[in-house]
Amino acid sequence: MSGDPALDLAGTVGSRRDESIDLLAAPADLERWVAECDGLPDRVTADAATFESALSLREALYRLALDRVLDRPFDPASLEIVNGMAAEPVPTVVLSDAGQHMTGDLPAVLSHIARSGIAVLADPDACLKECCRTGCTRIYLDRSRGARRTWCGMDECGNRVKAAAYRARRRASTPAEGHGPGAPA
Ligand SMILES: [Zn+2]
Repeated sequence: MSGDPALDLAGTVGSRRDESIDLLAAPADLERWVAECDGLPDRVTADAATFESALSLREALYRLALDRVLDRPFDPASLEIVNGMAAEPVPTVVLSDAGQHMTGDLPAVLSHIARSGIAVLADPDACLKECCRTGCTRIYLDRSRGARRTWCGMDECGNRVKAAAYRARRRASTPAEGHGPGAPA
């Protein structure tokens, strides 16, 4: 995961620069996504209107995160969307021996995500990066020491890049017609 629910929401669209893959095609996908997110309520219902606002929050968060990555001023329209949603009521949090538990409806969850996004986007020390795997385009928070992470996640991208590099090396070291070892393919 990207290290923050706001960036995770923005990451529900993959490979944004080519044929993008949208993981949230219908309200039921959003309900499932919220349930699977650590720290968010286990159960919310999404109607068509809240689903639309979730998607507009998502695109606004992505735009602002990209603005941070590219070190340019925030897009005013996206700021308005995120700030507007952050002003709505937030979920209830309860502490117990089991840890923290959050309850609330979907608009409250969106407000929580917007606030979380604001906290990350406003933090001058937060190291936001775009994943180095070509085609991934996910923006993540690098909390590693020295900020040396290159991929959004080892499972999703790191291992795929390493496997591709291994295959490329093997191809390069196999003598092919007219090419010596290491010759460009
Ligand atoms: Zn990635």
